[in-house]
Amino acid sequence: MPTRLDCCCATAHEGDCNEARGINRRLFMATAVAAGVAGPAGFSLSSAQAATGLPEGKAAFMEEATRLAIESVEKGWGGPFGAVIVKDGEIIGRGQNRVLLTGIPVFHAEITAIMDASARLNPKALLGSDYGAGTILEMIPREPGSPDPVPERARMLKGCEIYINGAPCPMCMSAIYWSRIDHVYFAASLKDTSAIGFDDAFQYEDFAKPWGERRIAVTENFERETGLKAYKAWMDKKDRHPY
Ligand SMILES: [Zn+2]
Repeated sequence: MPTRLDCCCATAHEGDCNEARGINRRLFMATAVAAGVAGPAGFSLSSAQAATGLPEGKAAFMEEATRLAIESVEKGWGGPFGAVIVKDGEIIGRGQNRVLLTGIPVFHAEITAIMDASARLNPKALLGSDYGAGTILEMIPREPGSPDPVPERARMLKGCEIYINGAPCPMCMSAIYWSRIDHVYFAASLKDTSAIGFDDAFQYEDFAKPWGERRIAVTENFERETGLKAYKAWMDKKDRHPY
């Protein structure tokens, strides 16, 4: 059992490092890309067809999502789930389930595909300060008829599609909402997924219930005034960047 960590702060020490916490976000995103969740950038439909004889059209993207899923199974990395994110006919993000490899319960294919695509489209976001034109944090007006009361939002992955070999769990579907992805294509159904032992269909049902009736105990409004201090800090911040 190692007790010392060779750390980014250039010293070997015990336990967690404050310096490391500061770069956690970068490391987390870089892990998703560098760990091979991301394949070679710029997988284009036309070149893939030419090189591998993949089926034409959107089916090729589902083939790629499924290939990632099967790889995860064969290598023992996680469940049989893969995802790709497509923009203008080109794959810009890949993800595969790596729960078994990492021990991280939320290491789902869709989440990592979103991180991969976001990191590619907005590498400067890693610096925490680039909100300029062309980045995913660029503000764009709400669509006509949108019920959103806020006049503009960050672009995020608007204009992208996601292809998943199985129906998204509620966590991943929420991530897709946050990402503002335009269109979800999934192959196997929630029922198909339940049939192989991944029972997340109940979560969709649970979310529709009041807090007090859900499977996991939830205490509402616990120390509300404490929590609201952070909201006040956000509202008081003069240069806050809404998203
Ligand atoms: Zn999921």
